[in-house]
Amino acid sequence: MKCKIGVLVWVLLNFGGALVSAQGENGAHIMTVNGKLAVEDMGKALIHEHIVTNFGSTEYPNQPFEGDQKVIETILPYLLHLKSLGFTTLFECTPSHIGKNVGLLQELSKRSGIHIVTNTGYYAAVDKKYLPEHVYTESSEILAESWLTEWQKGISDTGVYPGFIKLGVGKGTLDSIEQKIVKAGFIVSKKTGMALAIHTGDGASIKSQYQLALANNFNVNRLIWTHAQNATDDERISMAQKGIWISLDGVNETKLEAYVAMVVKLKERSLLNRLLLSHDDGWSITHLNGQPKLELFKNGNSRPYRTISEKLMKRLFEKGFTQDQMDMILVENPKQIMAIQD
Ligand SMILES: [Zn+2]
Repeated sequence: MKCKIGVLVWVLLNFGGALVSAQGENGAHIMTVNGKLAVEDMGKALIHEHIVTNFGSTEYPNQPFEGDQKVIETILPYLLHLKSLGFTTLFECTPSHIGKNVGLLQELSKRSGIHIVTNTGYYAAVDKKYLPEHVYTESSEILAESWLTEWQKGISDTGVYPGFIKLGVGKGTLDSIEQKIVKAGFIVSKKTGMALAIHTGDGASIKSQYQLALANNFNVNRLIWTHAQNATDDERISMAQKGIWISLDGVNETKLEAYVAMVVKLKERSLLNRLLLSHDDGWSITHLNGQPKLELFKNGNSRPYRTISEKLMKRLFEKGFTQDQMDMILVENPKQIMAIQD
């Protein structure tokens, strides 16, 4: 094969199927668990899913990977099916201290060919059960430093880098601890260009985040309102008009028509350019006598990662949506929010 070296030098590394290129034509990339990927190669993406989450674990920021075959064999077929549906990238939203396991993500990415992106940041929802103690005594600036270290040097000693920031807050106006971690998220996003996705309890919380963003001169075009389905149409429309990304990330079989209605409302207000869709699917993992036990999230989907393709899209087409609009929601919007400038 003849090879021409142009002005643009491409470095292609083949990780057993997940092809990773070091630089994109427009100078932007996403950071996957296997390295930089040119943003134009990201393809169709799910921006809020999980592989495994350990709801009993608060000890490790990142879970040691023990190469567990049973876990890999359980999950791999679902990722291969996702690939067969035309998806190429999955953003894994399990935060530090809740069983984030980047070694497992790397292995599954290599075997499936799905690009997987992991995150940095802390989760203060669920009564702050998963927050490490040092959050209570350190400033936003110091917290930001620890996440910036993951950005610069990788997560623990794995050599895996985060591709976005994932935080969690509860309902209502942000309290002082929530404010502290959200401000740390602003600092890290401003310095790195990474998107800031915040698990948000309700509409009052996102309003409070918006006020804090204004006070800290943070551009809300980099902010994802995670779980925006837990609010009203008016709240979603108002925040989308301010530039915040609206993440309807719990699409499921049992509440399909509610999701159709939420998406249609945004379309009616010409706000599809701020919409992100996902399932929030995944498995919870526990260990019994040293053996891993996996259980699908009880979120209304009997099989993970497929309700959008196999059910929701059909309903949206029936409601008059075009292929271009679907591509905007599943390809262009994820690209815009997740792209990091080289
Ligand atoms: Zn989630």
